Amino acid sequence: MSVISVRDLNLFYGKQQALYNIHLDVDANTITALIGPSGCGKSTFLRTLNRMNDSIAQTRITGSVKIFDQDIYGANVEVESLRKEIGMVFQHPNPFPKSIYDNIAYGPRLHGQNDRNKLDEIVENSLRSAALWDEVKDVLKKPATGLSGGQQQRLCIARALAVQPQILLMDEPTSALDPISTAKIEELLEELKTTYTIVIVTHNMQQAGRISDKTAFFLNGELIEYDETSVIFQNPNEKRTEEYISGRFG
Ligand code: ADP
Repeated sequence: MSVISVRDLNLFYGKQQALYNIHLDVDANTITALIGPSGCGKSTFLRTLNRMNDSIAQTRITGSVKIFDQDIYGANVEVESLRKEIGMVFQHPNPFPKSIYDNIAYGPRLHGQNDRNKLDEIVENSLRSAALWDEVKDVLKKPATGLSGGQQQRLCIARALAVQPQILLMDEPTSALDPISTAKIEELLEELKTTYTIVIVTHNMQQAGRISDKTAFFLNGELIEYDETSVIFQNPNEKRTEEYISGRFG
């Protein structure tokens, strides 16, 4: 069974259509890269997977998005619990203006966890999973905003992991980072995919080639081609994919 199953998905911003008949399945414990030129609908699509579009006025969706076989746009879906299952990390690290500890404990507390020992454990495990524990374990009470950009992004990953999601959505998570921080996060993603299913928007094609199992190429709101990353990069079926991959546009 696919973890994510998208069928006939159309999305409109007011009268403007931004996604056309998207059909895509994502398997567990894989990294899927969404690529394509700016404005082709990658972020819009990513946001449909945990209903982040709900907060954008005048957005209308048709078709279905199933996560573990449940239609997330169905009548009885609670968006809060959906977001607990599907964490998100954004382009610019956005820690809360709180301590490192409180950033990580925020989500679990929101979901009712107030036991100090349990929270300590969650904070440590989440920071370890995000490969940040060793760097911050002695400064947990310090403001998260004092960390470097790369550390802040790993903190945001740890914060997403703290509520034990099944899926991690990442919207260009390394585009604001230096090459060393980027390499650290890429390494981290390789590890995280053994536990989580990851969907990542990236405009860095080398990155998509390095880290993803499957790649989806979007153009003007359409999913042009979706296949094993090696196929997309070495032997794509669609001429437009080949032209984009070889740098002829975008
Ligand atoms: P990408 O992530 O590939 O750069 P986006 O998903 O951001 O593309 O944008 C796809 C299309 O939807 C673009 O035409 C963009 O202008 C439009 N769009 C994105 N966000 C909004 C919004 N909040 N309101 C209206 N139009 C939007």
